[in-house]
Amino acid sequence: MPELPNLVYVEDRLRAFLPGRAIVTVMVKQPIVLRVLVAQAFEAALAGARITTIERHGPFLRFGFDRDLELVIHPMLAGKFKHTPKTGKVGRGHCFSFHLDDETALHYLDDKKMGKVYLSPSGDYSRIPKYLQQGVDILSADFTMETFAALLKGQRKQVRVFLMDQTRLSAIGNAYADEILFDAGLHPKTFCYQLDQDECHQLFASIVRVMQWGIDTVKQADQPIEIKVRGHVKVRNRKDEPCPKCGATIRRAGVLGYDTYFCPACQPPKRKQFIEWN
Ligand SMILES: [Zn+2]
Repeated sequence: MPELPNLVYVEDRLRAFLPGRAIVTVMVKQPIVLRVLVAQAFEAALAGARITTIERHGPFLRFGFDRDLELVIHPMLAGKFKHTPKTGKVGRGHCFSFHLDDETALHYLDDKKMGKVYLSPSGDYSRIPKYLQQGVDILSADFTMETFAALLKGQRKQVRVFLMDQTRLSAIGNAYADEILFDAGLHPKTFCYQLDQDECHQLFASIVRVMQWGIDTVKQADQPIEIKVRGHVKVRNRKDEPCPKCGATIRRAGVLGYDTYFCPACQPPKRKQFIEWN
């Protein structure tokens, strides 16, 4: 998915101009990304609709309309939006466009065609995979140390796998999972049950701090919504570069098929890492 800070930025930017705008025409270039869960065709259902709300649900963006419809977009890794004048250039991966009543156009692009775009009746998310299974939103007031401790309790997973489990924490992607563990000083292969109470508190604080840092940094960069701001990360994709805290060489390792980047000095492995006696 675009990481949460990028999605929050897109949500804020779209919310600044889209509610109240009507879709004049719809142009579909890549129907493969569409999942139409209503009787009408995508173009016919949305033509003439006025956008009323823009909301985020974990890694999903949801558009409400002045009719019994919702557009729910799960952009995954490569899905992105672009806002241009009516005849502006769209670029690679063009999936569909809404021509709006202010002579501008909102485009959706995905050059990997991995994301999914659901058009569903309002309030019915039952046929949208993963939508109803999202865990606590880590940017919401519901995400407290108590909630976090309850989610961690009894976990047998490696901590990085736990961080990326969207049915528990909604939602942390690969890049921020690495940044959170770096901030917390925890090796990515640490098992959840190996964390002592201080480390649990540290990990919770790091999630909150690192996500807020990401949101603030992306906002300050003030880029067009199609640009993924990522240059501020400290360890992600920085194999063989010096650690910004201690200067040791950043390493890459695999955790259940995902690449993870970490500093071996700042994030030392726990003893008895691979031995579980109980
Ligand atoms: Zn270091």
